[in-house]
Amino acid sequence: MTWDELEVAVRGCVKCPLHLTRTNVVFGEGPRESSVLFVGEGPGAEEDVSGRPFVGRSGRLLSQLMEEASVPRESVFISNVVRCRPPENRAPKPGEVSACLGWLQELVWLLRPEIVVTVGNVPSRLFLDTKEGITSLRGRFHRAVFAGVEVLVRPIFHPSYLLRNRSREAGKPLDLTLEDLRSLSSRTFRDIP
Ligand code: SF4
Repeated sequence: MTWDELEVAVRGCVKCPLHLTRTNVVFGEGPRESSVLFVGEGPGAEEDVSGRPFVGRSGRLLSQLMEEASVPRESVFISNVVRCRPPENRAPKPGEVSACLGWLQELVWLLRPEIVVTVGNVPSRLFLDTKEGITSLRGRFHRAVFAGVEVLVRPIFHPSYLLRNRSREAGKPLDLTLEDLRSLSSRTFRDIP
């Protein structure tokens, strides 16, 4: 499948009930040659209306932190576990995640990123095939194979959690997230044991 074929297929997808309530499919955006992929949970209200990922309050905070960490948003590809908005901003259900998984696998296969930043619990657990929570998973790179592609996974807190924890004190979630994001610009696959 080519990028264009993938995009056309995803935009017309009716594989799960989320297609019934969506305004737009959020395919994802960014350079198709980027070595870094950010994967969020799913579109929120503003993403659903605009058709773009990470543009709501949470997304804007994440973009701001990425700038601070010298990881410009324009330099990475951004996508989600599910491409249509779950109603009331609830977490996607397991059946919806399963239905959308093939699109994420195709994306990873085409992009072949070196690093995948998983934003919050849902994508972190999916990529690392674990039930562990983000607090214990964040703070380091994990080797993983996803869709047959060897990647380094860097889990980070979800920005909606950071919106509720705005302290910039050392060791607080926001400071830890900046630390995680800064690690992206200084690490390559070969550096990780
Ligand atoms: S969430 Fe994914 S699987 Fe469900 S309709 Fe949207 S694109 Fe298809």
